[in-house]
Amino acid sequence: MLTTRPRGTADILPGQTENWQYIENVAARVCREYGYREIRTPIFEHTELFIRGVGESTDIVEKEMYTFRDRGERSITLRPEGTASVVRAYLEDKLHAGPQPVKTYYIGPMFRYDRPQAGRLRQFHQFGIEVFGAQQPAADAEVMALAMDFYGRLGLDDLELHINSLGCPECRAVVREKLQQYFQPVLNELCTNCQDRFTRNPLRILDCKASHCAELAREAPTTADCLCPDCRAHFEKVRQHMQDLGIPYILDKRLVRGLDYYTHTAFEIMAPGIGAQSSIGGGGRYNGLVEACGGPPTPGIGFALGLERILLALEQRGKLPDIKVGPVVFLAAMGDRAIREGFSLLARLRAAGIAADMDYQGRSLKAQMKYAGKMGVRYAVIIGENELQKGSVVLRDMIAGSQREISKDEAIRALHS
Ligand SMILES: [Zn+2]
Ligand SMILES: [Zn+2]
Repeated sequence: MLTTRPRGTADILPGQTENWQYIENVAARVCREYGYREIRTPIFEHTELFIRGVGESTDIVEKEMYTFRDRGERSITLRPEGTASVVRAYLEDKLHAGPQPVKTYYIGPMFRYDRPQAGRLRQFHQFGIEVFGAQQPAADAEVMALAMDFYGRLGLDDLELHINSLGCPECRAVVREKLQQYFQPVLNELCTNCQDRFTRNPLRILDCKASHCAELAREAPTTADCLCPDCRAHFEKVRQHMQDLGIPYILDKRLVRGLDYYTHTAFEIMAPGIGAQSSIGGGGRYNGLVEACGGPPTPGIGFALGLERILLALEQRGKLPDIKVGPVVFLAAMGDRAIREGFSLLARLRAAGIAADMDYQGRSLKAQMKYAGKMGVRYAVIIGENELQKGSVVLRDMIAGSQREISKDEAIRALHS
């Protein structure tokens, strides 16, 4: 146990962290360009927040949360998603009292007790954005555009954007009734989950993965068919904006998000070939959420994208950049005096912004050079007996295999350029 990590977790090792930093940097850059600023909330919250913010009857809250009592007997939960915490911060930190809209993004670990599979871990990572106080259809389009721009900059250009409108609570009441009428005659044929959904939330039957339910639902009414004039107009404008931006999408009337506070636009991004569940992100409008969490009525919209799944998609497509990290220069020195000189020169190289390293194992010069080759450094700076006498160094180009003897200042200048 001592040397085994818990199931569903991963060590992200040197060599992999560079890929993570790359993705995180692209995310941060896109967000800055779209006017989104980073927010960092705690990794754990009061359990109540997620029960309210994610929804009592969801799989997440019913089966997947890491919930425990702390030493003060409070019920604490490791965040299973990011939105609820941002909503809480929006209210608690009075962001709603400042200029609106508030546009934020976050990147970080989330926790769900789920069956681990490719790209799905119990501690996983999401990049998400949340916008509060923007009710215009252009905001819906911006959120989707930002997501697609982010993927595009990573080189993921074969993704499918599925969009739908869930309407407002009034539209939902209409479709709810129509769905119950539609499924009533075949109620016994639905899976037990869906029989439960029939009364609680019939919309989610459309989302059932069981093949027989999917078959029964094929002709079922959808929210998109039941939109009121306002919701229809909103969705029409969202689609116009997407068209104006030249972002292709698939109108997917089966796309639902189960909870009542989800309104209007819902979307999901699919990556072909990353496994049975090919979704690598999704989001939508949640105009009822801030109120459900005890705040004033506030339009909200956002998305959450799974970083593990994005990495998987990048790997499969060979789109991960070849990122060169580690020292550029290796300083090889032997003997006490040479090591002292070398260690000081190392500090000067680093102060000049040159990534440099040296031997700390007392290896021979030959072994040091071999190590430098293995580390893949571009240059070696060698201080041998001869150089020590003259106060010079040998600068060796490891790729060209050429070398020359120069002064230390010259070496720093040469390596700096
Ligand atoms: Zn409506
Ligand atoms: Zn079902």
